[in-house]
Order: sequence, then C-alpha cells, then structure tokens
Amino acid sequence: MADSYNQIDPGLQRLIDAHPLLFRGQAPAISSYVSAGWYSLLDKLCTDIEAVLGPQGCVDLEVRQIKEKLGSLRFYYRQGASTDLHFDLVSPTGRQHLVGRGSKATDDDLVVKRVRELVNAACATSETVCEECGAAAELRNTGGWYTTLCHQHLAERKRTSK
Ligand SMILES: [Zn+2]
Repeated sequence: MADSYNQIDPGLQRLIDAHPLLFRGQAPAISSYVSAGWYSLLDKLCTDIEAVLGPQGCVDLEVRQIKEKLGSLRFYYRQGASTDLHFDLVSPTGRQHLVGRGSKATDDDLVVKRVRELVNAACATSETVCEECGAAAELRNTGGWYTTLCHQHLAERKRTSK
C-alpha cells in the first residue's frame, strides 16, 4: 500500500490533505488523476460539499474517483448506500453527460440533491477552464478527441501529439 500512496499526484495529495473531513486522509478508491488547472475548482467543490454535509454528513460520503473524461471533470462518489449512474452519449456532432439516480438513491433527501447539484455544477464549469493552467478555455472536439484547453495549451498539445 505504501507504494501506491507514494505515487499519488502531488495536486491530489494536497487536495486530500486540505479536506480531511471529506477524504479522511484516504485517496479515492479508484486511481485518480486530473491535470493541475482543475485543482482550484476541485478545492472549491470539496469546500462546498463539506459546508453542505457538515462533519457528520461527510462520514457518509466516499469519494470514489476523480478524473477527466471526454474533456470534462468527473467526480464519482458514494453517499450512504447510493451511487449515481453516469452515461456518456457520444455522437459525431458532440457528446452529452447524463447523471442518473442509482437504485438506492434517497432522492427526497435535500442534502443528497444539493451535493449532486454541486458536483454537476463543478463538472460543467470544468468545461470552461483549461485543465493545464486554469485559464479560460472551451471544450473542443478534435476528431472525436475531447479536451478543454486554452489557446496556448491547445497549441502545445497539438505540437507534442504530432
Ligand atoms: Zn492553459
């Protein structure tokens, strides 16, 4: 276990250290990585979730995985016995991310709803923030390859991928 702990990205480790209520010192169960530009967004999301849940509510929430998918931030978590379902619809003209309720979702619970709203809002915001540097950016589809990068980092990515 010590080995995998040491391999944690420094940005992720800082996030875990900054939010002991939410992470309880543990990395997400599923290997997680996002680029540096999204960490201030993640930091704010974690602060907001902690404010909504309070110390007691945080105990019931487990962050499962944080990653980039199709140019967008994903923050997967389990709250009590409930996990949301994620669907990615991809077509030649674009893509859509839908979040459905898991079978055991307690939908009447306002706190569950509020956390879902916060996570969805942060993931939507990530599509306007360069994942490398945090500058204003837009989600682009380059031949089925989705990225959210500012002009500078898009140009750099194109250079290195050639
Ligand atoms: Zn950038």
